[in-house]
Amino acid sequence: MILTSLLNCPICDGADFRPHLICIDHTVSHENFTLKTCSQCQFVFTDPRPDNTALSNYYLSDNYISHTGGKNTFIDKLYLMARKMTLRWKRKLIENNSDGDNILDIGCGTGEFLKEMQTREWKISGVEPSSTARASAEKRTGTEIHQLLSDLPAAKTFSAITLWHVLEHLPDLNQSLQTLQCLLKESGTIFIAVHNLRSYDAQYYKSFWAGYDVPRHLWHFNKENMKALLEKNGFRLTTIVPMQLDSFYVSLLSESYKDPEKSKFLHLITASLVGFQSNRAASKSTEYAASFSVALDVSAAATFGSSLTLLTLRTPGLK
Ligand SMILES: [Zn+2]
Repeated sequence: MILTSLLNCPICDGADFRPHLICIDHTVSHENFTLKTCSQCQFVFTDPRPDNTALSNYYLSDNYISHTGGKNTFIDKLYLMARKMTLRWKRKLIENNSDGDNILDIGCGTGEFLKEMQTREWKISGVEPSSTARASAEKRTGTEIHQLLSDLPAAKTFSAITLWHVLEHLPDLNQSLQTLQCLLKESGTIFIAVHNLRSYDAQYYKSFWAGYDVPRHLWHFNKENMKALLEKNGFRLTTIVPMQLDSFYVSLLSESYKDPEKSKFLHLITASLVGFQSNRAASKSTEYAASFSVALDVSAAATFGSSLTLLTLRTPGLK
């Protein structure tokens, strides 16, 4: 395995990092990875991490349900039901927070979300690096899905761009956000979902927290450093929206990592209690377990006026 280390924090450019936590890759390699925190801005990241070529090997798992669409077990059925509710919730959120009818979903997986938007007469585009998931998304939507972000023409085409648990996976955060600026219409909106490192469930599960999902998740956000990252790239945060269902899903995954010998039924019971407590704690602290949504406007000095909405869910794959 070839590992690369960060030289500078992508948010504040600081170069002094402290060890934060050691986590195991629970789904693919079972290798250990170190999380570090920037001494200056407290941003947390996986460091060192596999280089860009080696990273693709860490996506090879049948456990990635968002890509395989498993539906055999009770848990799978519950997941699919939650996903259906989540898809509808996302669609309404976008319909209520953006003008236009042209949407790009980055990391679209097998295309369920794009299909949901398509049925409401949105013009859809998608990007998905996995060839298997991409083929499935193309079959589902009858639309060509791009392999890479760079395959899209650099024109201000889209009224909405979505990244549901995708930003954590992108090696170059600043370059990716600049690319999004080039793709978004002047009055467009970007919706981003990431995990919240400061949620109750993250504190409860510690290194077993499914939101870490190392090494696939390279970045581990809280609200303050997400806001700073977005402002650095010309956006202004305007809205945060919680997604409470995610706290249950992430707790369920975390339970299975923490105590794999326990029955799935017991996982479900414990995860439900932790998820409930997480949402309860978040209603006071606003540190939603999985989810907060943030809307951003490009600064007034800019010649283009787009906005970005950040949603933090906390599932690794609830697409
Ligand atoms: Zn920093």
